Amino acid sequence: MTSLSSAVALPSSCRARPAGGSSRRAARLLVARAAASSPKLPSGRRLRVAVVGGGPAGGAAAEALAKGGVETVLIERKMDNCKPCGGAIPLCMVSEFDLPLDLVDRKVRKMKMISPSNVAVDIGRTLAPHEYIGMVRREVLDDYLRTRAKSAGAEVLNGLFLRYEAPKEPNGSYVVHYNHYDSSNGKVGGEKRSLEVDAIVGADGANSRVAKDMGAGDYEYAIAFQERVKIPDDKMVYYEERAEMYVGDDVSPDFYGWVFPKCDHVAVGTGTVTHKADIKKFQAATRLRAKDKIEGGRIIRVEAHPIPEHPRPKRVSGRVTLVGDAAGYVTKCSGEGIYFAAKSGRMAAEAIVAGSANGTRMVEESDLRKYLAEFDRLYWPTYKVLDILQKVFYRSNAAREAFVEMCADDYVQKMTFDSYLYKRVVPGNPLDDIKLAVNTIGSLVRATALRREMEKVTL
Ligand SMILES: Cc1cc2nc3c(=O)[nH]c(=O)nc-3n(C[C@H](O)[C@H](O)[C@H](O)COP(=O)(O)OP(=O)(O)OC[C@H]3O[C@@H](n4cnc5c(N)ncnc54)[C@H](O)[C@@H]3O)c2cc1C
Repeated sequence: MTSLSSAVALPSSCRARPAGGSSRRAARLLVARAAASSPKLPSGRRLRVAVVGGGPAGGAAAEALAKGGVETVLIERKMDNCKPCGGAIPLCMVSEFDLPLDLVDRKVRKMKMISPSNVAVDIGRTLAPHEYIGMVRREVLDDYLRTRAKSAGAEVLNGLFLRYEAPKEPNGSYVVHYNHYDSSNGKVGGEKRSLEVDAIVGADGANSRVAKDMGAGDYEYAIAFQERVKIPDDKMVYYEERAEMYVGDDVSPDFYGWVFPKCDHVAVGTGTVTHKADIKKFQAATRLRAKDKIEGGRIIRVEAHPIPEHPRPKRVSGRVTLVGDAAGYVTKCSGEGIYFAAKSGRMAAEAIVAGSANGTRMVEESDLRKYLAEFDRLYWPTYKVLDILQKVFYRSNAAREAFVEMCADDYVQKMTFDSYLYKRVVPGNPLDDIKLAVNTIGSLVRATALRREMEKVTL
């Protein structure tokens, strides 16, 4: 799969926040239980781990590894990378990852869901005053997490990972080859270097070279297209605390179109798995649907990128593991991946810290597999539910009308937000569940009948 990222510069008014982890945080050492079976490393030598990629997955992994006493090197090809992304994060990520509040550009408390026939439903009525969806700029979040990893003791290198060589004997080293970029030596294209490590965490996103090297296999992917639009200030007021989701065959046959607020502009985008060649047509339709609200806007950046549809066939091989998009952890239906990237990065790192008894022993494949088992145990239900929702409600305009109608229900709103904001599949109230099932069937029947009538009219 080739990278589809393309970009032009962002305005300087969206300056990145100077990031830095506190020394209190850096000093907090993660203490792990000693692993019984793996060989102890010679005294004075600690376990060495290379984290490839410095997005949310890589930053979170490197921080947890360094805190856990592991000698950590993070390799990121572009320090000011601005990942094409809507930047929506769930509330629980702010507390779980101890994110400072000024990292959050917008607190979305109102979500408008807009049906194919432009019926708009406001979602967010059930939110408590302290609840919101956070909107971040990726260049700011990623830089913050990387800087915090550095404060915790990780070495952060600016370089392009090229490939790795697997060890030839059981506890031997992996050799990581990369192009080292050093602005001070004036060399364009970097200098070829290599590094010996005991384990590798592949956090290098959807086009992962680590995944390719380990023979992880491919996944189906969606292509997401997004335009950053600077809209007049009076129009920006509408998006102060609001995001919009548009559904319909026009904006995407299998996903949704969105308008997400950023610091001083909005991100307008859409995605599709099934009709990738038509992505620009869907983008034009999304822009058209939001026309009244973004009129007079100027496109300041155009970007596109693959979004994985499901985990790769293989996520661990020997002492190499994949996390985040490299592993394929984006949910269907919502296309959410930032939280899962950071979470999987941290979980993989914690498994390495535990398996190596705080960097004093060699790790084994079985240690890395513990991270996979725990990640799947925690999040498989969330992925499954969203997969089913996408199959049921994104398959036709009639089903989408029903979906939007259903979203007006307070119970649905509460369940959806609780699941999204706190990352758990919320057990429902049996009576309300029955009511919801009846209402859903009713909505689907009504919408299908409406579609049939519409087809008669247009024939
Ligand atoms: C248009 C769009 C909108 C989205 N909107 C949202 C949203 O609103 N909310 C949400 O939760 N998710 C969203 N996602 C998904 C989200 O962006 C990803 O799931 C998330 O970025 C995954 O994080 P990651 O750290 O695994 O990978 P990435 O963020 O892709 O980071 C990978 C890092 O590795 C670096 N890298 C890559 N190759 C190399 C190499 N060879 N050597 C060194 N470094 C390398 C890259 O420069 C990058 O910094 C969206 C995705 C797209 C495409």
